[in-house]
Amino acid sequence: MRTKQDFINGLSKMKRNVYFNGERIDRTDEVQMDCINVIGTTYDEAAKPENEGLCTAVSHLTGNKINRFTNIHMSKEDLHKKQDMTRMLCQKVGGCIQRCMGIDATNAIYNVSFEADKVKKGETNYHENFKKWVTRFQNEDLVSAGAQTDVKGDRMLRPAEQPDPSAYVRIKERTKDGIVVEGCKLHISEASVSDEILVFPTRALRPEDSDYAVAFGIPADWDGLKQVVTIHNVKKRQIYKRGVHHSGTDSYLLFDNCFIPWEKVFLAGEYQHGGVLALLFALFHRHSYSGCKPAIGDTILGIAALAAEVNNVHKAEHVREKLAEIIMTTELGYAAGYTASDLGKPEVYMPGMGFVPYGPGSYIPHSIYCNVGRCLSGEAVWREAEILCDIAGGVVATFPFEKDFANPETGELLMRYTKRNPKMPAEDQAQFWRYLGEYLCSGMGGVTNVGNYHGGGSPIMEQIAITTQYDIESRKKVIRHIAGMSGGDGDALAKKSRK
Ligand SMILES: Cc1cc2nc3c(=O)[nH]c(=O)nc-3n(C[C@H](O)[C@H](O)[C@H](O)COP(=O)(O)OP(=O)(O)OC[C@H]3O[C@@H](n4cnc5c(N)ncnc54)[C@H](O)[C@@H]3O)c2cc1C
Repeated sequence: MRTKQDFINGLSKMKRNVYFNGERIDRTDEVQMDCINVIGTTYDEAAKPENEGLCTAVSHLTGNKINRFTNIHMSKEDLHKKQDMTRMLCQKVGGCIQRCMGIDATNAIYNVSFEADKVKKGETNYHENFKKWVTRFQNEDLVSAGAQTDVKGDRMLRPAEQPDPSAYVRIKERTKDGIVVEGCKLHISEASVSDEILVFPTRALRPEDSDYAVAFGIPADWDGLKQVVTIHNVKKRQIYKRGVHHSGTDSYLLFDNCFIPWEKVFLAGEYQHGGVLALLFALFHRHSYSGCKPAIGDTILGIAALAAEVNNVHKAEHVREKLAEIIMTTELGYAAGYTASDLGKPEVYMPGMGFVPYGPGSYIPHSIYCNVGRCLSGEAVWREAEILCDIAGGVVATFPFEKDFANPETGELLMRYTKRNPKMPAEDQAQFWRYLGEYLCSGMGGVTNVGNYHGGGSPIMEQIAITTQYDIESRKKVIRHIAGMSGGDGDALAKKSRK
């Protein structure tokens, strides 16, 4: 397994195809270092003996010890551990750990490439190609981005109907050696600090959309790929340092006549499998949210409780209610993910067929619980921001800059008027408001909320998944029976659970 420094050294050797604010930058440019340090935590923690069971796994492909972020889930236990590792690491950095897109895309493609080959009866070699990719991913302990979201142009048109045919990433040309792709994947988290990029479709596809059913894996500095990155750093502190600097990056990935050799292609034209891949990545990613979002809940709870303490209102009734609300959302999100892990099987939900065996035997979390958990906790982010705003009061938006505290002309008076709770040092109170201002009122804070709401799919996508997969008909039959209507069956649900 690699160390954090190995990871940084790898990034420093990559070709310069990352653009930021009008300039081409090195991957290890200072502006990206906070984000690199966040991902570096996944290397540091995996190396600690006490985290061995949680942060490392044994590869079912090679038998080697690997970082769990490169693992294919082979049991319920693996799903539980991924959830718990994600929560633990996100707690450490006070936000997203920035490495789950790769593991989620890897698990999705692992299953879909197998099923696509099965249907093509030996014509394609996607799964073997992907297993080679996974083996290298595991052995070299790489970071991969997951590039799903397309530009999508006019939302009311399907891929093949768009005026610009590259509004969704597509196969522009096929040659005997590979495919040429064109288009743009956007909002792709941590692509600018990843070794590899896995690309796959964003939605269900029809036969006429088959050029959009494309999945492949390439190094993040591949020829024909340019990245334009936005970087979400908080203001650099010069005097009153923070303990941890959380940060993230998101890229537009521009594929301009980009050639992909067949051995890096995992799907090329199988539109039905393209749709399943889109849904399966979303499912694994929503399962990851059942680890990260509870950790963000832990962070928000800690902030809310401290804000109340700094303001010396921590015994007030309305504060207790708000803390309880944060805890309930956090732990319901965790419980949904726990159940999704525990009911995990090598099965997926197929419309009209229910849950059916799928893939070569790796474990897939239960869809209803992944979607319920992510939707509930994703939608809660704005309410949680409201709670922080409420308990903190206005100081969080107007707290003076650090040099005004260091200035002898103003510092002493500012410190005097910072003091609220007599039992807490004023310096700690000042540090707390600096941090909370950065958390709640910065560009980074805004991006975090939008990301937590839309990342993994907007709530509407989860609601569609839940309502199409949930057995609403059985519930109707039970109520028909209880109400004395025709067509009732008081045993309709019990029969299902006995199966
Ligand atoms: C910070 C951040 C990080 C992200 N990281 C990643 C990443 O690493 N990898 C990745 O692949 N993606 C990533 N995403 C993308 C994320 O998954 C998408 O933002 C999400 O799926 C919503 O897609 P969209 O942004 O295109 O919004 P849209 O789909 O455009 O949604 C906007 C509105 O239009 C509605 N709408 C859209 N289409 C229709 C329709 N046909 N009919 C009716 N209403 C419609 C939606 O319901 C919504 O209300 C990230 C997003 C953010 C904000």
